[in-house]
Amino acid sequence: MAQTISGGIRIDGRKSTGTKNAVAFTEPRLVAISMKQHSGIPLIPSVAEGDHVDIGQCIGDNRGAPCCPVHASVSGTVKAVENRGGEVFAVIENDMLYTVTPELEPVDVPLTELSAEDIADRVRKAGIISGGVPACEKLSATAGSVKRLIINCVESEPYLASARRLLLEQPESVIKGAKVLVYALGIRRAVFAAEDGDKELLELLDSRTADKQLFSVKTVKAKYPQSGERELINALYGKEVPAGKRPEEYGFTVFTPEEAAAVYRALATGMPFVHKRITVAGDAIKSPCCLVVPIGATAEEIAEFCGGVKKRFSRLVLGGLMAGKTAESLQCSVGKGTDALLFLSAEKEKKNSGCIRCGRCVRACPMRLMPHLLAAYAEKGKYGKCASLDVFSCTECGCCAYVCPGGVPITEDIRRAKAALGGADVTGEVLNDGKDA
Ligand code: SF4
Ligand code: SF4
Repeated sequence: MAQTISGGIRIDGRKSTGTKNAVAFTEPRLVAISMKQHSGIPLIPSVAEGDHVDIGQCIGDNRGAPCCPVHASVSGTVKAVENRGGEVFAVIENDMLYTVTPELEPVDVPLTELSAEDIADRVRKAGIISGGVPACEKLSATAGSVKRLIINCVESEPYLASARRLLLEQPESVIKGAKVLVYALGIRRAVFAAEDGDKELLELLDSRTADKQLFSVKTVKAKYPQSGERELINALYGKEVPAGKRPEEYGFTVFTPEEAAAVYRALATGMPFVHKRITVAGDAIKSPCCLVVPIGATAEEIAEFCGGVKKRFSRLVLGGLMAGKTAESLQCSVGKGTDALLFLSAEKEKKNSGCIRCGRCVRACPMRLMPHLLAAYAEKGKYGKCASLDVFSCTECGCCAYVCPGGVPITEDIRRAKAALGGADVTGEVLNDGKDA
């Protein structure tokens, strides 16, 4: 039977892109690859202006820090290594020749001849990020303590459909990636988790995971934010992973289908994580679709590829509608953690008319917080009060702001409080368009 979390919300999917095959966008003229791909840890660029690079060539790393390298996603010439607002980018002009670096090292021995350390090392070299941390950390730091691997096929954010497309179009790469992960973790099986309403996906998973010794499929009811690692573990197993703790400390590890496929590809071909699957959607883009793009492709060129933006376009969101962040400009580029580009109009946005104490935000909060109080104290700068109300347990899922009839920007207020108390990011804001509230 499908399981679920307490709190959370049901949102209409708006997943029209999930019914069409993903398209490869291979011809961006430029890519701008960030040297800060996760956790804010900066990498040290190993290329300079004028250098030639091939696809898959390492262009930045920081061996002394808990991070993994980044690679060229196109072949061409480095036009600049420049600081943009505190973040360094390597800007590469695409020569459209698609030459691949000769440095790739595919595995040419059976998997069983590799140790867990070998696999973690290869996953690190491939620059694979999983859930915001280097995937190699999930494999090495917790070796032996993880009992359950979950392949997270749940896309509970509205619009997002690229994981679904990957599973429907290239299931073998995901299945083989899951097998590698099972082996590397020294466990017996992987659990594929999907929403109970997606019959096509469930049929596919059932048919492709016929080896019940190795795989099982579990379902959750369609509810946001169950695609979050903590929320999914809670929905499936009733276990709470507290804020600040990693699922691996509680015996679980979670990979998305794309991350599992990237692990398989890194071993089978040696190709690092240089392409990203994204959903391009929203009411202000002419041809919404799922794309496979080189990491570093800019929103401007992606929009062009998707037919351009409509006149009413007013805002670009990097990531999902609920937890994504507003981009400063169309010059922003796709990073390893970018799941979506949403081109939106201003028509649906709510105005802040103040809290009417309806309690909807409290009922929607999956972390059982008091969002209205957190927002009120944050607005007044009473951050100590926010801390006493456990503000750091907030996952910034955006459920509270979404359901709020008063249009209170609760999640933005909470982000500000967290930043004031100790260093969270306040550059973004949660979109709150009020639809389906
Ligand atoms: S949902 Fe909005 S209006 Fe209702 S209690 Fe929460 S903050 Fe106040
Ligand atoms: S954003 Fe934070 S406070 Fe709001 S519903 Fe999500 S976890 Fe709760």
